[in-house]
Amino acid sequence: REKTPLDGFITAGGTVRGIRTGASEIVCADTVICAGPWSAPVGAMLDLTLPIEPSPRQVFVTEPFDGIGPRSPMTIDFHTSFYFHPEGEGVLFGMSDPATPPGDDTSVDWSFLDSITAVAQRRWPPLLDARVKSAWAGLYENTPDFQPLVGPLQPGLWIAAGFSGHGFMMAPVIGRWLASWMTDGAPTADLRAFAPDRFAAGGLQPERNVI
Ligand SMILES: Cc1cc2nc3c(=O)[nH]c(=O)nc-3n(C[C@H](O)[C@H](O)[C@H](O)COP(=O)(O)OP(=O)(O)OC[C@H]3O[C@@H](n4cnc5c(N)ncnc54)[C@H](O)[C@@H]3O)c2cc1C
Repeated sequence: REKTPLDGFITAGGTVRGIRTGASEIVCADTVICAGPWSAPVGAMLDLTLPIEPSPRQVFVTEPFDGIGPRSPMTIDFHTSFYFHPEGEGVLFGMSDPATPPGDDTSVDWSFLDSITAVAQRRWPPLLDARVKSAWAGLYENTPDFQPLVGPLQPGLWIAAGFSGHGFMMAPVIGRWLASWMTDGAPTADLRAFAPDRFAAGGLQPERNVI
């Protein structure tokens, strides 16, 4: 049910039986927390501590710009996380800012453009000739090792969240694997790297290629 905030979970004897939204209830055998950057507050409704933090990212888009072709690939400087790709007739670019604390502020920080410009001057100077026409900010949903939490949390409750800024790429296969895990009773792929309880065991191998 779209555009409908979750009010809480229906539970019986430690098993999640569905959710409550406004005046209605949705009863189901399996419930999945997939609330992206807002998954931790959703888990808190059941007193669960989910290690997922919202982290703002700034994105800028230029006016038409002939410094990039329509077939240019997405290009990433993993040293700085500066990236760009064609967007319409212009270019879309961004960079992560380690100094930005976790939070859900999605206002545009125009001052960050100066930081990106300094990097572009070394990495892709043609960008300095482009005119920025718009900007927006969105939220990554980071976990301690920048990998998602995928799997069962408690009877009747699952999670697929915390994709740490690479959820578009992972969504189709994770959806398929999780659905077959629910219906077949066992995962069809080895998903231990995404186990929701892996952080307690330590020995994490953080994803390094997060921009
Ligand atoms: C600037 C930027 C660039 C990105 N670039 C890429 C990229 O190039 N490649 C890539 O793979 N990924 C990229 N991502 C990451 C990708 O967008 C996310 O990983 C992905 O969207 C996560 O999907 P999700 O379904 O887990 O969460 P979301 O898409 O955030 O969906 C969560 C949903 O839960 C709903 N929700 C939350 N709380 C409640 C509640 N209490 N009640 C009801 N509904 C609720 C929200 O409204 C939302 O619809 C980027 C993200 C950003 C911000």
